[in-house]
Amino acid sequence: MGGGSDILSIDMARIHNTSKSTLALRQRKRFLLSQLKIRPDSLRASLVERFSRCGKANCQCHHGGDKHGPFYYLTQCLAVGKVNKFLLKSPAQQQSARQAIEHYRQLQDQLEELSQINAELLRREDNLSHE
Ligand SMILES: [Zn+2]
Repeated sequence: MGGGSDILSIDMARIHNTSKSTLALRQRKRFLLSQLKIRPDSLRASLVERFSRCGKANCQCHHGGDKHGPFYYLTQCLAVGKVNKFLLKSPAQQQSARQAIEHYRQLQDQLEELSQINAELLRREDNLSHE
């Protein structure tokens, strides 16, 4: 472990604006429902960039020189303390991962906004099944 690890993408909920009129929230909800689409490559994961030292004791990386990398890893938290992690070897694989993660993130963001709107509509005692 040579340090130098950066998480390039992380999944977190955004806070959406729900301080609109009930009519505006319903319209936004209708729009979201019409936009919702599950892309076939959707992938919930993070992309991690790492620089590391190699196994050769005489290599420059052990003597103040640059570390090797960047290496890109896909990490997926499955449960507390249980992470699926593997190296993305080729640029094509890295690009696929970026896109797949972005597609999942978009879907999750839309679902999250729908959820936040529904919470607000419930608070206002609106009918949630209303489309
Ligand atoms: Zn080295």
